[in-house]
Amino acid sequence: MSSTNATVYLISGANRGLGLALAATLAARPNTIVFAGARDPAATKALNELAAKHPNVQPVKLTAGDKADNEAAVAQIKKTAGRLDVLIPNAGIMKHHGPLGITPLSEMREHWEVNTLGFVVLYQAAHELLLASPTGKPTIAYISSVMGSIGSYFHTTAAPYGSSKAAANFLVKVLDAEQPALIAMAIHPGWVQTDMGNGGAELMGKKEAPVTVDKAIEGILVRIDGATKEKSSGRFFNLVSHDGNP
Ligand code: NDP
Repeated sequence: MSSTNATVYLISGANRGLGLALAATLAARPNTIVFAGARDPAATKALNELAAKHPNVQPVKLTAGDKADNEAAVAQIKKTAGRLDVLIPNAGIMKHHGPLGITPLSEMREHWEVNTLGFVVLYQAAHELLLASPTGKPTIAYISSVMGSIGSYFHTTAAPYGSSKAAANFLVKVLDAEQPALIAMAIHPGWVQTDMGNGGAELMGKKEAPVTVDKAIEGILVRIDGATKEKSSGRFFNLVSHDGNP
């Protein structure tokens, strides 16, 4: 097994949107290795262009909720980098709105499968390597949403999505409590100009989401870079205002 002194990141859903932008920003930093997860890496032009430009970006096949896929990706990280320091479960879907009484169960299941179980399966595959991070501060930054916050924001029409993110927020608290060294946090990136964010804006008759991808990435990375067990772990950071308040 080879090992490196670089900080090693694994990002799911890194072929477009926030995940791709996170991968690009981290890859441009010195001394990083970025494993960029995608369902079909070979078919992803933008990710392959990024990897061609930055040899420290390694695309890996990562389908949310697929145990074999996730375990193979982590085995590849262990073999090529020998360590994992920061896990960013970012892959997500939001594709149904409507009253709960007529929401198809298939929609509930699919959102829970990708947004919640996708996180669990990824953590289960990665936890041994992550918890052994030589930094002594293994970090998970789950990309969540205020739509999964019961207290701060409550959107009745997005039951499949909101409940999937609320469950994941709970799991972040669980990980904080059960792993003394692990920094586990949930981050709402703002309403961002990606396929998902702009799709939501369109539904509301708006031209685009208000937050640029660059601004969202800046906010996410400030939280990750400055994370400590005491200040950050078990917290939900709402970056809407980018004021840093948990
Ligand atoms: P995009 O729709 O632009 O990107 C979603 C990413 O998730 C894509 O890479 C997509 O891959 C991947 N993905 C979806 N389903 C699966 C799956 N089954 N297996 C593996 N990968 C999958 O969304 P964003 O970049 O905006 O969203 C990133 C995260 O941020 C999500 O978790 C989202 O909930 C959260 N978020 C976004 C907000 C916004 O305003 N944009 C607001 C709050 C939270 P593929 O191309 O293969 O579909």
